[in-house]
Amino acid sequence: MLILVAVPVPSLDLLTYRVPDELAPPQIGARVVVPLGSRVVTGIVVERAVPADSDGEIKPVRQVLDAEAFVPPDVVTLARWTAEYYASGVGDTIPALLPPMARGGRADAHKRTRVVAITAAGIDALSVAAGLRAGPTEGAEPRLRETQRDALALIAGTPAGVATAALSSRGITSDMIGRLARLGLISVRQDRVDRDPFATSATGSAMSAPGSDPDLTPVRPGSDPDRTLTAEQTAAVDRLLALAGAGEFRVALLHGVTGSGKTEIYLRVAAATLAGGRRALMLVPEIALTPVTAALFRQGFGERIAIQHSGLSDGERHDQWQRIRRGEIDVVVGTRSAVFAPLERVGLIVVDEEHDGSYKQEESPRYNGRDVAIVRAQRAGALVVLGSATPSMESYHRAMTGKYERIVLERRVLDRPLAAVTVVDMREEYAAEGPDVILSRALREGLQQRLAPKEQALVLLNRRGFATAVFCRQCAGTIDCPNCSVSLVVHGEGAARRARCHYCNYTSRVPPACPLCAGPYLEQAGFGTERVEAEVKKLVPGARVARLDRDAIRRKGSLAGLLSRFRDGGIDVLVGTQMIAKGHDFPRVTLVGVVSADVGLGLADFRASERTFQLLTQVAGRAGRGEQLGEAIVQTIYPAHYSIQLACRQDYAAFYERELQFRQTMRYPPLVSLINIVVRSRTFAGAMDDADSLGQAVQRVAGRNDLRVLGPAPAPLGRLRGEYRAQLLIKGTNRRRIREALQAAMAKRPELQRRIIVDVDPMSVM
Ligand code: ADP
Ligand code: ZN
Repeated sequence: MLILVAVPVPSLDLLTYRVPDELAPPQIGARVVVPLGSRVVTGIVVERAVPADSDGEIKPVRQVLDAEAFVPPDVVTLARWTAEYYASGVGDTIPALLPPMARGGRADAHKRTRVVAITAAGIDALSVAAGLRAGPTEGAEPRLRETQRDALALIAGTPAGVATAALSSRGITSDMIGRLARLGLISVRQDRVDRDPFATSATGSAMSAPGSDPDLTPVRPGSDPDRTLTAEQTAAVDRLLALAGAGEFRVALLHGVTGSGKTEIYLRVAAATLAGGRRALMLVPEIALTPVTAALFRQGFGERIAIQHSGLSDGERHDQWQRIRRGEIDVVVGTRSAVFAPLERVGLIVVDEEHDGSYKQEESPRYNGRDVAIVRAQRAGALVVLGSATPSMESYHRAMTGKYERIVLERRVLDRPLAAVTVVDMREEYAAEGPDVILSRALREGLQQRLAPKEQALVLLNRRGFATAVFCRQCAGTIDCPNCSVSLVVHGEGAARRARCHYCNYTSRVPPACPLCAGPYLEQAGFGTERVEAEVKKLVPGARVARLDRDAIRRKGSLAGLLSRFRDGGIDVLVGTQMIAKGHDFPRVTLVGVVSADVGLGLADFRASERTFQLLTQVAGRAGRGEQLGEAIVQTIYPAHYSIQLACRQDYAAFYERELQFRQTMRYPPLVSLINIVVRSRTFAGAMDDADSLGQAVQRVAGRNDLRVLGPAPAPLGRLRGEYRAQLLIKGTNRRRIREALQAAMAKRPELQRRIIVDVDPMSVM
């Protein structure tokens, strides 16, 4: 029999192999070991009994690792759809399917060694045993040293056995264990031990199960099955239960303002799904949101909850994956890749904060977890709930055109008011206080007043670093990255000061003089989160100020640690990038400041206004979620821009109408489909030429009615990591035709494969 196999090798298509007669034909989803060039790799069977597609020699499968499907067949099909839709090789989607350790095909990778005492009796019995072996002189001349006796005591006191890792952390070496084992005092066995990510709390993350260590349990009030839902929540739950009850594919857009209690609704609908014998998948946009969400589900549903995200260790991820696969799990909570979890009988998929850009993977396969979730639900006959206070233009458009059902929550729980928003026109601040103002008078006053009675504040600036550029006052030159077409960003102050590229990480010292003209007057311009943090510290010296951005959380666990410290009141002001705006529920935050609300508006990206609107609405939504009234102060130099105006009024509907007009005029999604293509080359002309010929080929395959190719043009990021980049945009209304034309054109230029980035439904065309 011939089979199609997906191998985990980037941008490779499916490969055909022959199953030798002596091997049982593997099932779809089973792992097989196959030769690939001079290597041997583990792949997944994607299709069986395929006809031979060429006359060439077809290589035989070396080994079949699983008698049954390892990855559920419907997940294999989903991955195949993903590869096709997003125009990437199936090999790129395989890592998303497999737990990390299964890729090498080592079936025992999840086993751990445990040391078990041969006798479960206490130290005395062991001494006797030791004594017997030691011969009649025992007592006078003990053969066991004290450390060895301690080790025996520990092992004997734990009848279930002690893991080797735990022993070594107590200084009991594997040598010593070996010696004791040779003496026949202990035995060593291999156990399957599930690494429980809920229990890894060494970093102070809130990952522990509720009820364990009170310091680590999320303070957030849990789901209370007896809690009285608001009228809006009740109506939403009723409607969703009716949709879920149909047992068919449906998509509901749960459009609820920030703090309207959407999580409670997800929990109730999940409970009904489980009661009906089906399972639920809960997607959240950010790793940091998984522990709190998973803890809520654990409170409601007990132990049958797993989490899946890339922040877990390989081991944890593997164990959780296996538990899901064995059917021991009813609810999977995770980030976008969890959409491929090996969960069977899926009846409900929730995509919380569905508008969030982090559902989109920015490397191949460039899939959107939300959209893959919808396809998965369609095939499983499941209900999808897309939750957001600021739905994406795409989802809202589908709701308005009747494809999705829209369910609305207009009020916060307990009728808490939305934060009052004040817009500060920074041009007036500059006129009054000079051009170097970072915190406006209103924000300074707000911080001082709010912090006195121990309330908390968030300050957002969506730009990292201390200063965003260094320029020369003599020749006006800037210090740029040698590999990318951007200027370097200054991080740190004083001796720690460094200039760094945010794209390729190139780092250098800030030179004392201009490298271009040797002029001695170098100045820093622009500011980022580090500078804001310093300003806030200066303004409120007694306050505990911390920063949350990608630089601050490089260490594993530091993000969860920061968030839980803030939640517990150990931090008064949290300064950060858009990370602080996402879905968090911090009841003691009463003030939110937005410094430079217009950071994103300067970008030549069709989603610039949408992203600005979402970010401002979301961050303002973090204020006043507890009993105290909330306030937001938004600083901008474009106070009249509609995305800023409407976000401040929290008027989603008006924003949607206004933005839709723009998308209509400019022919952008959701009114057309868009594919962004970037061709990379060592030279500028090479990139432009290749992009040009590819664009023409696409246009030739498809008629002008089907699609339109724009470009080539130098990409907004014209040079990256030493390579030049040319950009093409393909727009059209028939997505399938666009993809077919592109595939046909790319098939004629196989040598371009490695130098081309295809982004279907891009989040950004930067
Ligand atoms: P959203 O996701 O819509 O922004 P959350 O689900 O985070 O809102 O809920 C906001 C807060 O309100 C949470 O602290 C939650 O526990 C609480 N909450 C939810 N529903 C109710 C209710 N019916 N009564 C009281 N508090 C509620
Ligand atoms: Zn660079």
